[in-house]
Amino acid sequence: MRLPFTLSVLLLPWMVLAAQADPWKLDAAFQAAKPDDLKDIESVPPPAGAIVLFDGKDFRHWVKKNGQNEVKWALKDGAMEIVKGQGNIMTKETFTGRFHLHVEFRVPYEPNGQGQGRGNSGVYVQGRYEVQVLDSYGLQSGKNDCGAIYGVAAPKVNACKAPTVWQSYDIEFTAPKFENGKKIEPARMTVRHNGVLIHDNVPIPVDNTTAGLGGDPATPGPILLQDHGHPVQYRNIWLRPLN
Ligand code: MG
Repeated sequence: MRLPFTLSVLLLPWMVLAAQADPWKLDAAFQAAKPDDLKDIESVPPPAGAIVLFDGKDFRHWVKKNGQNEVKWALKDGAMEIVKGQGNIMTKETFTGRFHLHVEFRVPYEPNGQGQGRGNSGVYVQGRYEVQVLDSYGLQSGKNDCGAIYGVAAPKVNACKAPTVWQSYDIEFTAPKFENGKKIEPARMTVRHNGVLIHDNVPIPVDNTTAGLGGDPATPGPILLQDHGHPVQYRNIWLRPLN
C-alpha cells in the first residue's frame, strides 16, 4: 500500500522514534571494533554443588531491598529485566566465606545516554561490594566503568561486549576476616568478564561501595542487583561455595 505523500511525511518522525525505542537492537550508527563483540557469550550451566539463584522462571530466591516486598521486575524469555523505579532486589539467602558467583547480563543500547547514564546497574556481592554493570563499550575503563569494583579498582582491561549482547561475570569472592571485632583481612575479589581476567585477587579496603547495603561487614550478606533506572537484563545466576 502506498501512503499519500503528506501522510508519509507526517508518519516518518514517529517511525524513526519507534525504531529507536527498541533498546535491544543496534542501529547502523553503531560500530563494533571486532565481530566477536557482537556475539553472545555461551551460557554456562550451574556446576555440581552450585546454588541456582535465578533460572529464568521466577523470582522465588529474590526480594526487594527492604527484605519484604515481592520483586516487580519483568521476566522476559528466560531473563529478568529491570523495571525502572521498582528498586534494587536481593537474594533471600545470604553468603559469606569464599564463593564463586556467576552472573550473565546485557545492557540496552542507549545511544543518547553518556557516562553513568547508559545501561547502569550493578552486582553487589554481600550487598556491599559493587561490580559495576554499565555500557562502557570501547572506552578507557575507569573505577566507575563496567567491570570496575566501584570506586575501588578499574578493570585491568576493557572486556566489554557491545550493548544488547549477552556478557558474563565470574566473581570469586573472599569475605573479609575479623578477629575480636577487628578486621585482619580485607574482602578480596577475582573477576573474569566474558572469560577475561579483569581483577586478580584485588583487596577491597572499604566495607561498602556507593549505594550498597552496608551493615556489619563481619556478617553474611545477599547478592544484590541494582535498579539504576535502565532496563538491564540478567539471566542464569548461580553461586558455588568454595573451600
Ligand atoms: Mg551501578
